[in-house]
Amino acid sequence: MKNVAILGGGITGLTCACQLAQSGHAVTVYEKTFQTGGLAGSLVQGDFVFDYGPHEFCTENPMLVALLEDLLGDDLLERHKHAAQFFNGRFIDYPLSPVHVMQQLRPGLTARIVSEVVLQRFKSLVWTSSDHSFEKWVASRFGATLYQTYFRPFTQKVWGIDPDHLDPRTASQRIAFNSIFDYVIKTCSYFFLHRNDFSSIHSPLKDKYYYSRGGIGTLTRRLAERCRELGVEFRCGHQVERLEVEEGQVKALHFTNGERVADFDYAVNTMPLSLLLASLGHPVADLPIKFRSMVFVFLEIPRPQMSPYSWIYYPDPDIIFQRSTDFAHLDAGMCPPGKTGVCLEISCFPEEEVWSWRDEQILARVRRDLEQVGVLPESVPCKGHVVRKQFIYPIQVIGYLEIVEELLKPVRGIRNLVTTGRQGLYKYCNMNECMEMALEVADQIEAEVDDFAYQLESNWRGAGLEQERALPTAKKAR
Ligand SMILES: Cc1cc2nc3c(=O)[nH]c(=O)nc-3n(C[C@H](O)[C@H](O)[C@H](O)COP(=O)(O)OP(=O)(O)OC[C@H]3O[C@@H](n4cnc5c(N)ncnc54)[C@H](O)[C@@H]3O)c2cc1C
Repeated sequence: MKNVAILGGGITGLTCACQLAQSGHAVTVYEKTFQTGGLAGSLVQGDFVFDYGPHEFCTENPMLVALLEDLLGDDLLERHKHAAQFFNGRFIDYPLSPVHVMQQLRPGLTARIVSEVVLQRFKSLVWTSSDHSFEKWVASRFGATLYQTYFRPFTQKVWGIDPDHLDPRTASQRIAFNSIFDYVIKTCSYFFLHRNDFSSIHSPLKDKYYYSRGGIGTLTRRLAERCRELGVEFRCGHQVERLEVEEGQVKALHFTNGERVADFDYAVNTMPLSLLLASLGHPVADLPIKFRSMVFVFLEIPRPQMSPYSWIYYPDPDIIFQRSTDFAHLDAGMCPPGKTGVCLEISCFPEEEVWSWRDEQILARVRRDLEQVGVLPESVPCKGHVVRKQFIYPIQVIGYLEIVEELLKPVRGIRNLVTTGRQGLYKYCNMNECMEMALEVADQIEAEVDDFAYQLESNWRGAGLEQERALPTAKKAR
């Protein structure tokens, strides 16, 4: 039996803790805040439950589905995706339907986009474009108009940097089709041949996703409960400050409250990679990696829905938020009858003005923009809440995989330390992949590995797909 210290109580830390405890190890989770769940937690405000943005659980991994069923039982919901893009003053269904796009866009704009896409297609037959950045990757496949009017403003808004500085691998991972032609072919084969060739990580043409009744926080709460049943100890309000390393091993954890803990064999890090490196003595300011932050605005709306869509993307730079989510569509039980809760996401850096605006200022601006796009008149009285969070998006600058590989060197040199999860590996991935990585780390600890293997590129299916695995069940508690 090993003693394992887990740093961070988000979905990655909780899954790893659960799996290790299931195998009989003694596990303690150290979490900075007084709540577990991290980004996959929910905010409860009176009768309303909000998530930090929409959290659709997409997986084809039977082992993960079984785990969700086991944890959630009747509270595991299957939902149909009904999202939209607010583009050029119109709401366009997303995933895109070519017919709906044609109906919604001005004929002149549609003609320009189509002709450019055709031109790019012919160009690609005679010469291969240099895909050295996100901008080049997208523009050479979708043409200048679509890039300038949609991809560029949206990407700039979300990531906060010029798309020319973003790695092209971000585009190829996030955009499920290579061109409009590719899209039409894949859509036809999806509908007529029942094949799913949308193998990309984040946006396969799936109209279904899993969700947990009462918000995504129900899933992480159940995971934490399962951990407790299995004997995992939680030390919330414990912010890791420094790792004491001696002879290639973490000897002790130091916390901001002055505590020192040394009773562990392995330490599993799930806090942001930059914080881990800082705790090992690397000044954060010097690091070539940076996370995007976010201001979340939550509104209690006295209407059954704000729009017919579960969530809407807003590429327009004049609209302050990038996405709105209407929780009544995800689970009506998250709001009182006849009302809906809405989350607006404003991506930013803490140095940007909006981060330090007063809450009332942010709420007023959001209400103005919601009226402008035509989904909620300013006259409708709504209670609002504002939450600021750092470490939201790991910014995938050109060459980020190689940069992270380099940054991991000092971590690799420490035999009983492993870093994992979206934050711990600076990996732009979803909950399913976080859970898969966490299970893999638990397996490596079980096998007493002291040279951990890292998979830095996102992997839609993730680890363990083919493996039969014993699920962490309460019955086997130590
Ligand atoms: C707006 C938004 C929308 C998203 N939508 C989806 C979606 O639709 N589907 C999907 O699958 N995924 C989605 N995700 C991604 C998903 O939320 C993350 O992949 C996942 O929650 C990351 O889990 P984690 O445990 O790795 O990190 P976190 O949840 O960030 O957990 C890390 C934990 O470490 C703690 N911590 C930090 N510093 C310290 C310290 N010094 N000491 C101790 N503890 C510390 C934090 O408090 C936190 O609890 C979304 C994310 C965002 C931001």
